[in-house]
Amino acid sequence: MQANENTIRAVVEEVLSELVRKPQPNHGQTNGHRKSGGIPVLSGAAGGALPSRNNHVAGKGNYGVFDNVNDAVAAATESFAALQKKTIADRARVVQIVKDMCEQNAEVWGRAEMAETKVGRVDHKIEKLKIIKLVPGTEFLKTDCYSGDHGLMLEEYAPFGVIGAITPVTHSLPTLAGNIINIVAAGNTIVVNPHPNGAKIACTGVQAFNKAFAAAIGIENLVTIIGKPTIESANEIFHHRGVRVLLVTGGPAVARAALQASKKAIVAGPGNPPVVVDQTAELEYAAKCIVQGASYDNNLLCIGEKEVFAVQKIFDPLMDAMSRHGGYRLNAQQVDALTKIAFTPPKEAGGHPGLNRDLIGRDAAVLAEQIGLKVPAGTELLYGETDTTNPFVPEEQMMPFVPFVRAKDTQHAIDLAVEFEHGFGHTAMIHSRDVHTMTEMGRALNTTLYIKNGPSMAALGLGGEGYLSFSIATPTGEGVTNPLTFTRKRRCSMVGELRII
Ligand code: NAD
Repeated sequence: MQANENTIRAVVEEVLSELVRKPQPNHGQTNGHRKSGGIPVLSGAAGGALPSRNNHVAGKGNYGVFDNVNDAVAAATESFAALQKKTIADRARVVQIVKDMCEQNAEVWGRAEMAETKVGRVDHKIEKLKIIKLVPGTEFLKTDCYSGDHGLMLEEYAPFGVIGAITPVTHSLPTLAGNIINIVAAGNTIVVNPHPNGAKIACTGVQAFNKAFAAAIGIENLVTIIGKPTIESANEIFHHRGVRVLLVTGGPAVARAALQASKKAIVAGPGNPPVVVDQTAELEYAAKCIVQGASYDNNLLCIGEKEVFAVQKIFDPLMDAMSRHGGYRLNAQQVDALTKIAFTPPKEAGGHPGLNRDLIGRDAAVLAEQIGLKVPAGTELLYGETDTTNPFVPEEQMMPFVPFVRAKDTQHAIDLAVEFEHGFGHTAMIHSRDVHTMTEMGRALNTTLYIKNGPSMAALGLGGEGYLSFSIATPTGEGVTNPLTFTRKRRCSMVGELRII
C-alpha cells in the first residue's frame, strides 16, 4: 500500500490522541460538569460526560469555552495553524460532524435553547437545528483559472485566519452551527461572543462539537467561545489584533459597533420585511404564506413578514383568508390595546417607541391574553388592520402580530413597502401574478432577499431554491453567507508555461 504524507500524519495524530486521553473523575455530578466560575454544561446531549480536555492544542479553556478573549483568540490561532496542515477532506469531516450532531441532538438542544432564551417556539427551535444540513460546506470552494498565450493563472479562495463571530439570542445555536460550517469549510477558525441570554446552549454546542472534532481530526479548539459574554468582551473581539475578520449577526447597535471596528466586518443586520399583495394574487395561498412566515418561531426571523401592504381591491377578502390559515383577527380596539402594551411612546420627538421586550417571541395566545382575549387552540398569528402610524408598522417588533395596511393601488403599496423597509436592504415579499409589478417592486426595494409568491423562508432553501444560512449579510453586501464569504482571493501566475493546448 502506498501511504501519502497526510495519511501518515492523520494516523499518527489519531494514535497520539488516544494515548493522551485520560478519563475524567466524576465528582459526584451526574447531570453535567462545571469549570470553576464557568458555564454548566448539559452532558447528555453531547453523548455523556466529557472526558478531560486532550492536549492537541492550547492548554486553557474547556473544550472551547474560555473565560477571556485573549485566551480564546490564542487557542483559535493555534488551531488555525493546525487546520492549515490538514486536508480539505478533514474540513469536510468537521462540516459533517456539525450537521450530524445538530440533527441527532435537535430535540434536546432545541428544548434547552427554548428553556434558556424563553423566546420563540420549541417546535421551530428543534427544526432550525435539523435544517443545519442545508448549510453549504467545502463543496462551495472553487478555483478560478485563466489560460492563454501568456501561460496559466489560478485564483484560489484562501482562509483569513481567526474570525470573530457575534451571535443573536433569536437563534443562538443554529446561527453558531451554520457559522462554524461556513467558516471552517473555508479553512478558518472562530472565536464567538454569543448573546448572554443564549450563551449556555451555545457553549453546550461548542463543547460537544470540539470534542468530536478532536476525536476526528485531532484539533480541539476550532471554535472557541466566551463562557460569560458581555458587550465588553464583544468589543475586545472587535479590536483584537489576532482576529482578522468579524461576522456579526444582530440588531442595529451591534451592527453599528462592528462597522466602526478597524477591520473587515461582515454584518448580518436588522430588517423590517414588508409584504405587498396586489389584486392579481392568489389570496388563499398568499394568506397561508404570510401566516407561515410571520408565525415561524413567533416572528423572530430577521426575514419574517413584519407588515403587509395590500391593495384596496382585495384587502377584505385577504383579511378573511388569513383567518382560515391559523390567523386570528383583532378588531380596532383590540389592536389598540395590544399596541399600548407592546410599545411605550418615544422618549424624544422623532425617536423610536420603546418595545416591550417581554413580548418578543411569545406565543400568539400569550399576546392575546395580555388584552384579555382567549384565542382558539391552533392560533399561530394575530393580525389586524392599522394605518402606518401604528408602531407595529415601522418597528421590527419580532412578535406574532402582523399589521395590515390598506393601499390605494399597487404603486402605493410598493411606495409604502420602500418607506417601511427603511433602506435596510434586507428582505421583501410580494404576492402577485403580474411579472411587471414584481419587477418594479424588486427594483424599488433593492433588498438582499426578494421572495415572489412564497413565505419568507423560501429564500433560504426552505420551500424555494437555494441554500441556508442564519447570517444574511445586508449592509456589507455579502448576502446569504457561505464558505466563500470567509475567504480571501489569492492569485498564482505561471508565466509562459503550463498551457498545454
Ligand atoms: P441584539 O442586537 O440584541 O444582539 C445581537 C448580539 O450583539 C448579541 O450577541 C449581543 O450581546 C450583541 N450586542 C448587542 N449590542 C452590542 C453592542 N453595542 N456592542 C457589541 N455587542 C452587542 O439582537 P438579538 O435580539 O439577539 O437578535 C435580533 C436582531 O438581530 C434583529 O434585529 C434581527 O433582525 C437581527 N438578525 C439579523 C440576522 C441576519 O441574518 N441579517 C439574523 C438574525 C438576527
